[in-house]
Amino acid sequence: MPNIAQVLFNRIRSHPHLSAVSYGTQSISFAELGERTQRLAGALRAQPGLNTGDRVVLCMENRPEFFELVFACWAAGLCVVPVNSKLHPREVSHIVTDSAARAVFTSEALIDDLAPVLGQLDVPPFVCVVQSQAYAALLSATPLACIDVPATDIAWLFYTSGTTGKPKGAMLSHRNLMVMSWAYFADIEHVSPGDTKVHAAPLSHASGLYALPHLFAGGHQIILSGFEPDLIFERFERHRNITFFAAPTMVIRLLQSGGASAPHPGLRTLYYGGAPMYVSDLQRALDVLGPRLFQLYGQGESPMTLTGLSKQDHLGSGDAAHLARLGSAGTARTGIEIRVFSEDGLELPVGEVGEVVTRSDCVMAGYWNNEPATRSALREGWLWTGDVGMMDERGYLTLRDRSKDLIISGGSNIYPREIEEVLLKHPAVLECSVVGASHPEWGEEVVAFVVRRPGAELSEQSLDSLCLEHIARFKRPKRYRFIEALPKNNYGKVLKTALRQQLSQDSAGDGAR
Ligand code: AMP
Repeated sequence: MPNIAQVLFNRIRSHPHLSAVSYGTQSISFAELGERTQRLAGALRAQPGLNTGDRVVLCMENRPEFFELVFACWAAGLCVVPVNSKLHPREVSHIVTDSAARAVFTSEALIDDLAPVLGQLDVPPFVCVVQSQAYAALLSATPLACIDVPATDIAWLFYTSGTTGKPKGAMLSHRNLMVMSWAYFADIEHVSPGDTKVHAAPLSHASGLYALPHLFAGGHQIILSGFEPDLIFERFERHRNITFFAAPTMVIRLLQSGGASAPHPGLRTLYYGGAPMYVSDLQRALDVLGPRLFQLYGQGESPMTLTGLSKQDHLGSGDAAHLARLGSAGTARTGIEIRVFSEDGLELPVGEVGEVVTRSDCVMAGYWNNEPATRSALREGWLWTGDVGMMDERGYLTLRDRSKDLIISGGSNIYPREIEEVLLKHPAVLECSVVGASHPEWGEEVVAFVVRRPGAELSEQSLDSLCLEHIARFKRPKRYRFIEALPKNNYGKVLKTALRQQLSQDSAGDGAR
């Protein structure tokens, strides 16, 4: 298998005049992308003097330089470490230190906050702002053609989004990313030269990873600087054959916006994932956006590729089987093995709940510089995902929760997602999240954090009756907390750890009074 950058160079050769990357009013063709990439590759080897395997942090808001830097690093045999621009400078500095990055590319918007922390590191990296003269100078270096590297070389160090503890760097090889790209073509869609991908979510994660197959096929990447529903809908009107990624919370924001109900003929595929999509939200999305939705279940450790719920799987009559399918994460993606294991590593029968494990050429080599975490995640050839779920007789996987989010109350297992699905049936509930709070008698008790729909009336009694109608009594939340918004990380995932912390601080406060 070639250096993954070579796949892009093939497309540059076959379709030099097509638009490759656009941002605002700027646009570059595949030929220009190739030229810039090769010059940057030459510069990275020559000026900061980077060597094969060195890590390069890319920390910038969504900007057009992102892709040329990713491919320049790969052409030069280097490893990229994309970092979400909204992280705190201290978190960025943790990633720079942990990955021992030798170079950091960032933007004007971030440099003032980053420079002081990066300057204090024991081995300060080479730092370059992509809008600077220094960057322009790199673009006049002698071009470097793509060098050969083994397919097992690490191409992308993917720092997990850290909804718990410090992020760890999943080591993704050229082969992992190629397998991810093949599975995209096999399961999600065929991409033709000139098709469009609109990016409004951070390029350092799902949106950017799936830009790879799209670019390999000659797709045009349109980068928006942030998630603004009106701007997104405007792009849906302007282009054709559009693919778009949104985390579930972003899909909800899209649906809430006025532009959602337009027909959007240009939108071909909206793929969503990265966090649970509740059935009632999904039904609304299907009503509004039509049969264009693909759900992916993945994690940094097996990038974007574990199971998928196809567009066809989303269709149905609304009967029980259809609703169960909508509540699932679909079936194993092409080339990916998925099983459900008991704690002692035995495969569980259909319908039994256990930990989701996977085995494939998409799975990471391990965590960077973290042998204990690698040993606990990769066991006897399987990646233990930390997610709890069950498989039905047709191979559809229904996820329950992260194993650490499971609530154990009076010795019974309670899966928060089941309760969240019920609460969201209430028309006045905009968002909710259920967690366990420690309880002297029961071990844990169920607490629901609820965000009201603006202007709607909502009482604890009405939520309680809804739960009584749909789930066992012991699973009902014992307490409700009405809040303005759920805490989320930069990728839109709800931070249950923050909710649990809030509860334990409150009970410590109660004890002190
Ligand atoms: P990350 O590695 O930061 O992308 O987080 C991956 C985690 O997000 C998975 O292990 C799941 O817990 C969660 N996740 C991803 N996709 C889905 C999905 N379709 N439904 C529910 N949870 C998901």
